[in-house]
Amino acid sequence: MAASRTILIAGAGIGGLTAAKALADKGFRVVLCEQADPPQEAGAGLQLSPNATRVLIALGLASRLEPHVVVPQAVSIRQAASGREIARIPLGDDIAFRYGAPYWTMHRADLQAALIDTVKAHPDIILKIGTRVEDFAMHAHGVTAYLKQAVHVSNERGIAFVAADGLWSRTRAQITQETAPRFRGRVAWRAMLDANHVRDEFREPVVRLWLGKDAHLVHYPVSAGRQINVVAIVGGKAGSAGWNTPGRREDILKRFARRDWTIAARDLINEAEQWQTWPLYDRPARRHWGQGPITMLGDAAHPTLPFIAQGAGMAIEDAVTLAQCLSVDDADPVRALRLYEGLRRKRTARIQRTSRMNGRIYHLGGPLAALRDFLLARMGGEKLRERYDWLYDWRRV
Ligand SMILES: Cc1cc2nc3c(=O)[nH]c(=O)nc-3n(C[C@H](O)[C@H](O)[C@H](O)COP(=O)(O)OP(=O)(O)OC[C@H]3O[C@@H](n4cnc5c(N)ncnc54)[C@H](O)[C@@H]3O)c2cc1C
Repeated sequence: MAASRTILIAGAGIGGLTAAKALADKGFRVVLCEQADPPQEAGAGLQLSPNATRVLIALGLASRLEPHVVVPQAVSIRQAASGREIARIPLGDDIAFRYGAPYWTMHRADLQAALIDTVKAHPDIILKIGTRVEDFAMHAHGVTAYLKQAVHVSNERGIAFVAADGLWSRTRAQITQETAPRFRGRVAWRAMLDANHVRDEFREPVVRLWLGKDAHLVHYPVSAGRQINVVAIVGGKAGSAGWNTPGRREDILKRFARRDWTIAARDLINEAEQWQTWPLYDRPARRHWGQGPITMLGDAAHPTLPFIAQGAGMAIEDAVTLAQCLSVDDADPVRALRLYEGLRRKRTARIQRTSRMNGRIYHLGGPLAALRDFLLARMGGEKLRERYDWLYDWRRV
């Protein structure tokens, strides 16, 4: 295939892998570089709503993913201290019917493995593992990326360069002169449990969201129900970037004190011996995501706090939108990239805002928490879901 159809991508996370597949399906040659070798095994769960699963299904991944996912029947929102259910948002067949695609929970490693296999099997994608994009240079007919693999340096030319290199994106720093992301004062503690070791109620195909003062807890089954993903979010200190900073069980249990948290939630936390901590950072929404033949995608462009469970979903949406823009305007890739950014900017900024707001609401205490619970209960699950029509009903495939 002509090098004039080559797109370079930095980062084989969920965004970069999905973009590679979507672009190759549109007839582009893709060079996808991932610095990690092997690609990071991210031991955590993911919720993917219909806006994202629709894309994965359209890319032909359904048969590869379905054996590993769980289809949750509801989101159950609960009070931390009493354990009482405040509201129940219906998912399952209801949501699949309403938005034309399912809601899935899954292990990240299952999604990553499915995407990597698909990318490796595609004749027009060159996946360079253990290869870091060190720098890039724009020129009249596109861009050259300078790569480093161990001690070997090389370069690749393409008509466009996509930075899918995550929250700490070097490309973003280079093209925007921005400083580091902002720490948001909270830390996510994550654990994966064997489903055989938890109470029956926690094995149910339900996403449970427990709201407490200055803390919340989310858990749901993944890996076809064999494992339970647990995420506890509490106040904390900035730390090293990454998934794998270990946390001590006794430290997280202290944050879920007996007087504020029902015994069931504490039991679940107590069951997990190994915890990983992930300090939460984000960046402000930007007006410009790129320059000339360069653009950004996923967390590099619009890092999103996890209070709306949409960061990976947005990266997946970005990927397919980018492929469509480049394919309809392949005579002018620079214009196609600006079109892509224009199509994505408002929606991703709204997600960033909504997630920050959810974070504040989830961690309320005292009378404000009581008011929140009253309003959630009065609104009820159906209405709560309808409020997200704009999110789940997104269709570009
Ligand atoms: C606690 C928590 C829970 C979450 N839950 C959900 C959820 O339920 N649903 C959801 O949709 N989202 C969720 N998210 C968000 C989601 O994890 C991220 O938004 C998503 O993984 C971003 O994908 P990405 O491909 O943009 O970036 P990343 O996954 O960060 O991938 C970037 C890749 O680029 C590579 N890289 C970096 N620099 C270079 C370079 N110079 N050269 C080559 N490679 C490079 C990195 O090694 C990495 O593999 C959650 C996040 C957190 C913290």
